Amino acid sequence: MTDRIDATHDASLQSWVASANAAGTDFPVQNLPLAIFRRAGSDEAWRPGAAIGDQVVDLLTLRDAGLLPRDAADALAGTEVGTLNALMGRGRAARVALRQALSQGLREGAADRAQWQAALVPQAGAEHGLPARIGDYTDFYIGIHHATAVGRLFRPDSPLLPNYKWVPIGYHGRASSIVASGTALRRPLGQGKGPDDAAPQLRPSQRLDYELELGIFVGPGNAQGAPVPIAEAEDHLFGIGLFNDWSARDVQAWEYQPLGPFLSKNFASTLAPWVVTLEALEPFRIPFTRPEGDPQPLAYLDSAETRARGGLDLQLEVWIQTAQMRAAGQPHEQLARAGSRHAYWTIGQLVSHHTIGGCNLQPGDLFGSGTLSGPGEGQGGSLLELSHGGRQPLVLANGEKRVFLQDSDSIQLRAYGVREGFRRIGFGVCEGTVLPAPAP
Ligand code: MN
Repeated sequence: MTDRIDATHDASLQSWVASANAAGTDFPVQNLPLAIFRRAGSDEAWRPGAAIGDQVVDLLTLRDAGLLPRDAADALAGTEVGTLNALMGRGRAARVALRQALSQGLREGAADRAQWQAALVPQAGAEHGLPARIGDYTDFYIGIHHATAVGRLFRPDSPLLPNYKWVPIGYHGRASSIVASGTALRRPLGQGKGPDDAAPQLRPSQRLDYELELGIFVGPGNAQGAPVPIAEAEDHLFGIGLFNDWSARDVQAWEYQPLGPFLSKNFASTLAPWVVTLEALEPFRIPFTRPEGDPQPLAYLDSAETRARGGLDLQLEVWIQTAQMRAAGQPHEQLARAGSRHAYWTIGQLVSHHTIGGCNLQPGDLFGSGTLSGPGEGQGGSLLELSHGGRQPLVLANGEKRVFLQDSDSIQLRAYGVREGFRRIGFGVCEGTVLPAPAP
């Protein structure tokens, strides 16, 4: 097993960008997540950038000024089109070369500081596109506490179906409606049918919800018919961002059998701007274990490395701001906290399972983790769980109540990794605001 902790993770590293050294920043020099950006309101070409403190480093400006070593400059070839797909497809070596170059150039005492400074754009003055052209999107279901809680609502007598502990459950989702953070979404119309209704009717969804997920980007693809062995699975991944899989629960309840979610999930999903690379996540890897008495994974999903470091320990949060809060100048309020350590399957297992039948993955494909809920009260990654199926309203600090989302509600997802001896790194914010439904 390789020790992938290196000098770029050193907690004592400081940046000459002062905001990157603040205790609570998401973007210290140890993180260096990647995004696609341009100056807000401009018609500039979308371009790749890395976060440092409250700034974005324009990577093509660095390259064109000759400030990057050859391997890091080469890593960026093809990103001029305004997506990270080409970089994603190059794999770990290219990513590491870029990380090393950014770490060297942005740390305290670096040479060429004045030239690097010219490549900085304040994040407050930037807007973001999607990090990649997402060819295909698969949504998994690896949060076992979510699967159990939701299963209990839909099927009280058999909450967790017997395949759950053997198969990483997933379905193929819709890539075209994945939007960048900050894009407002319309409440969807759909068929709804209550238990006592004689027939369904077309109406705006009455049970609009969010889902707290991680979005896992595929790196180098695999050939069709060539499954990815578990030992190589993470070589086919690039990094992770926050992902909100907005869901219309009333539409879902009526349509999901027999073929699974369809219109309840395909109207919009929101992806955070920043993709945190696997390298930056290295300090937050944890052993993969199974609870006592649960089946062990089949051999194609098991390896010593998976056992030793397959898991991921990230803290996840959901925040809400209602129209009333916004009018009163109140910031978002925390709705829930959860963690990725409760995931039942690892990110590597998702790759090996997805490809075992011969399916080919491509650079920039996206996996949703599925909703990541914790085991406790207040740790649900969706309102469906927090409101116990819509039966128990949540009361916000200003007295407003929520069972599901109302128009003008803004939802933010946030995440960070914390571990003794390392710098805290964060994922930025994944935000979306609900607009009223169109006329039916
Ligand atoms: Mn989902």
